[in-house]
Amino acid sequence: MPVSFTEFIRLCKRIAATSSINEKTTIIASFLSRIDKGEWKPLIMLLAGKAVPETKEGGLGIGFSLVKKALKSGVKPLLPPPPPTVSDVYQRLHEIADVRGPGSMEKKVMLLSSLFNSLSTDEEMRWLAKIIFGELRIGVEEGHILNALSRASSVPLEYVRRAYMLRGSLDELIELLNDKDHDIRDIKPVIFKPIRPMLATPANSISEAFSLIGGGEAAVEVKYDGARVQIHVKNDRVKIFSRRLTDVSGSLPEIIERVKNTLSNNVGECILEGEVIAVKEGRPLPFQELMKRFRRVKDIESVMVEIPIQIFFFEIIYVDGKLLIDQPYVDRYSILERIVSRDLLAERIVTSDIDEAEEFFKKALKAGHEGVMVKRLDAPYILGSRGKNWIKVKSAESVDLVIVGAEWGHGRRRKWLSDYYLAAYNPDTGGYELVGKTFKGLTDEEFQYMTSRLLEIVVRDEGYRVWVKPEIVVEVAFNEIQKSPKYRSGLALRLARITRLREDKSPSEATTIHELRLMYERQFRYKGRAGDV
Ligand code: AMP
Repeated sequence: MPVSFTEFIRLCKRIAATSSINEKTTIIASFLSRIDKGEWKPLIMLLAGKAVPETKEGGLGIGFSLVKKALKSGVKPLLPPPPPTVSDVYQRLHEIADVRGPGSMEKKVMLLSSLFNSLSTDEEMRWLAKIIFGELRIGVEEGHILNALSRASSVPLEYVRRAYMLRGSLDELIELLNDKDHDIRDIKPVIFKPIRPMLATPANSISEAFSLIGGGEAAVEVKYDGARVQIHVKNDRVKIFSRRLTDVSGSLPEIIERVKNTLSNNVGECILEGEVIAVKEGRPLPFQELMKRFRRVKDIESVMVEIPIQIFFFEIIYVDGKLLIDQPYVDRYSILERIVSRDLLAERIVTSDIDEAEEFFKKALKAGHEGVMVKRLDAPYILGSRGKNWIKVKSAESVDLVIVGAEWGHGRRRKWLSDYYLAAYNPDTGGYELVGKTFKGLTDEEFQYMTSRLLEIVVRDEGYRVWVKPEIVVEVAFNEIQKSPKYRSGLALRLARITRLREDKSPSEATTIHELRLMYERQFRYKGRAGDV
C-alpha cells in the first residue's frame, strides 16, 4: 500500500513528539521497514525537508508569493481523487520545479494550486507549505536519516554514510541501497558526480591549531580567500563543481583550460580539490569580485579580463580507479605533486616548529591571503566531516551565520531590506537560532541584491519585517560574544557587521550554536568574567 500524505503527517508528528535522537531514528527505521522500498525515496526526501535534492540547480523554485497565488487561485485538483500519496506530492513538486520557459509562472501556480486543493484539510495544506519552505521543524537531521536507512536496509552505517558522501545526495543513496546489482560496500565515486568535501575546524592561533591536531609535524598551507572547487577529469573532459556541489564549469573556462594543460598525460580520471581566487597584478582581489565570476554565465569573455582568476590545488581524492580517502595526507599529497605542476599547488611548508609556522602565517596575511590551514600529515580524508585533521587559522575572529529575517530600512534605505536577523545553526534540531542583528557592512549594490534575494524566499511577511527561508549565509565580524536573555540561544554578538556574502556555503555549514558557545567560553582566557572573583 502506498503511503498516503495523511500518514506521512502522522509520522512527522510522532517524530516531532520525541526529543530523543535514538527514538526519532527508530520511528523512521521501523516505518521504512514496513513500506515498499519504492516509497523510500519520496518519503525520505520530504522528511529531510528536501523536496528536491540540494544538488538540483535552482532548487524547488517555489517562493512565498507563488504559494500565496496558488492558494488564492483555487484550481481544481488534477490528481486522482484523494488521498494523494507521498509519491504524488513528491512527483508533483518535482514537476513544478521543472517548469521552465514562457508562461512558467502561471503553469507553476496552476500545478501548485491543484496540489493544495487535492488535500483534504487545512492542516495538510499547512504541512505541504512547510515542506515547500523547508521548514518541517521535526528535528530530523541528515545523520538520523542515514542511521535509519542503515537500520532498515541492514547495511552498516559506515557504508551508508560513505555512499551518501560519494554520491552527494539522499535520493541517489536510496537508489543505490535499492539496487540489487551493486554492492554498496564497494562503491567508487562517479566522475562528474560531485562528492561531499572534508571541512575544517577553526582555531584562534597557530599554537592552538598545532595542539588541536595533536602536536608534532604538520603541513601549513596558505588559506586562500576564494571559493573551493572540486574538479572532475575524465580523459580530456573537465568539470568543476562548487562547494555546494553545483556545476560551475560554464563560469570558469580558463580554469578548465589550465587543468587540461597541467595534468600529466598519464592520468585518465581523477578528482582534485583546490581554491579559486581572483587575482590582479599578483594580489588577491576581494571575495565579492570572485563571486561575480561564479554568478556569471553569459559574456564570460569580458569578465575574464576584468576579474582574472587563478587556482591552487590542495587535494586529490580519486585517481584512475583508486579512491584515496583512506590514505594519509602525505601520500595523497605526493600523488598530487606528481600530476599537477608545482606552481598550481597551494603554497605550504611542513614543520613542527611553531615559530616557523607563525612566520609563514604572517607572510600569508601580508600577501593578502586569509590565513593558513594546519593539516595533520597522517590524516585520512573524511568525506563531509568537520574534524581535527584540518585546522583553519584566520587573522580576525568571524563566524558564518544565516539570515533568517530582515527589516525594511529607513530614510535612504527605505527601499531595501537592510537590517538582518542573524542565526547560528543548531545541528541537534536542524533549526537556526538567533544570535544577532545588523545593518552594517553591505554596499548599496549589495543591499539591493540582498533585498531581491530575500524577497524570493519570504516565508512570513509582517509588514515592517519579513522572515525568510534559512538560505543565505554571511560572514560576520564582531567585537564580543555576550550572554543575552533576548535570544533563546542565550548568546548575542556585540557590534556585528557583515564582512561578506558566503554564497559558496550552505546554511548547514554555518557556524553552529555549539561552536559559538565554545567561542564565548574561550573569550575568558583573556578577560575576566563578570561575577568572577
Ligand atoms: P572556511 O570557509 O572558513 O570554513 O574554511 C575552509 C575553506 O578554506 C575550505 O573549504 C576551502 O574552500 C578554503 N581553503 C583555502 N585554502 C585552502 C587549503 N590550502 N586547504 C584547504 N582548504 C582551503
